Amino acid sequence: MKRHAGQDQELVKRWRPATQMVRGGTMRTEVGETSEAIFMTSGYCYDNAEEAAARFRGERPGMTYSRLQNPTVDMLEKRIALIEGAEAARATATGMAAMTGMLLSTLSAGDHLVAGRALFGSCRVLVDTILPRFGIETTTVDARDTDAWAKARRPNTKAFFLETPTNPGLDLCDIRAIADIAHDAGALVMVDNAFASPIVQKPLEHGADIVAYSATKLMDGQGRVLAGAVVGSEQWINDVYLAFARHTGPNLSPFNAWVVLKSLETLDLRVRRQCENAHKVAQFLDGRVPRLIYPGLASHPQHALAARQMKAGGTIIAMHLDGGRPQAQALLDALQIIDISNNLGDSRSLMTHPASTTHASVSPEIRAEMGISEGMLRLSIGLEDPDDLIEDLDQACKGAGL
Ligand SMILES: *Cc1c(COP(=O)(O)O)cnc(C)c1O
Repeated sequence: MKRHAGQDQELVKRWRPATQMVRGGTMRTEVGETSEAIFMTSGYCYDNAEEAAARFRGERPGMTYSRLQNPTVDMLEKRIALIEGAEAARATATGMAAMTGMLLSTLSAGDHLVAGRALFGSCRVLVDTILPRFGIETTTVDARDTDAWAKARRPNTKAFFLETPTNPGLDLCDIRAIADIAHDAGALVMVDNAFASPIVQKPLEHGADIVAYSATKLMDGQGRVLAGAVVGSEQWINDVYLAFARHTGPNLSPFNAWVVLKSLETLDLRVRRQCENAHKVAQFLDGRVPRLIYPGLASHPQHALAARQMKAGGTIIAMHLDGGRPQAQALLDALQIIDISNNLGDSRSLMTHPASTTHASVSPEIRAEMGISEGMLRLSIGLEDPDDLIEDLDQACKGAGL
């Protein structure tokens, strides 16, 4: 099996992004299959005993065990690295495996991490309760406030961890300004980019060192598999991340890797269309609900930063209703097209009530700190006709007394 003609790595790096998304990383067997093969194998055989020994010594190329290498997963990793403009990437079984691997491979007992306050629910649990169990000190800050990051630095600060736009409040962090502060202190900048996807935002271009994904979201984009990825320099992936992950096994299954690999062929098309749809729906809702938040609209308090850092407003919209949980639930229950679901980044539009679902595991105090009100709803826009979505939202607003 080999990378097919035209997969000269220097040439592939010069391809334009749309070409990389369809062809980057592809390997072909002797059969010459058009679509990438799925290698559902845990292990590999050797022609003779010395071949096995040489591969284990690292003297000969070739795979040894799927916790270490697998051809289908390798194709996905190469493609993700190309799309991100990064030296290397590794795929993981879930987005949380990516976040956990990124943090635990980099941090040791006695190190300090500064993280944004508004994080995906499980990321917040990781920062607040799991990392401290291993002697890692953590501080959370209002991520919008660049000075707060500078004030939180300590001599033992090893990394900054942030999400932008945040889930579910859609606050933005200035990656460039925060990266300058981190690098001044010799700390790494880690960005959870699941909400934006590489089509909307490339954190490495703004000074981040490591990017982590829940590929469950826009990368699969069709609600089928859980997957994740970490992206960074060759040096960090090989010496830091793999030194941890080779032995702890957060690997992605080859089948799930193949699903995401095929999805990446349409990532650009899907995300662009979903952003256009979200923009149109947000414009409608802006005059229809009491408080609407969408980074692509001038009404967003950080719209100027969005224009600098993001190529579009994204696929997620947040809103706050004055009638608290009862009114939010009434709106959800009146929906006819949009599904009630806590997933996001799907081709189907999905809406959730974060306080009772995605962020139910964090305390009411922390929810308040993260700006999650009882009347808040998060809407992930899909690929339906935006006019149908607008009609559905209009009738659901009426059903909720708006
Ligand atoms: C979904 C999500 C995660 C977790 O990913 P899983 O694939 O569900 O494990 C982490 N961060 C963000 C921003 C997410 O949206």
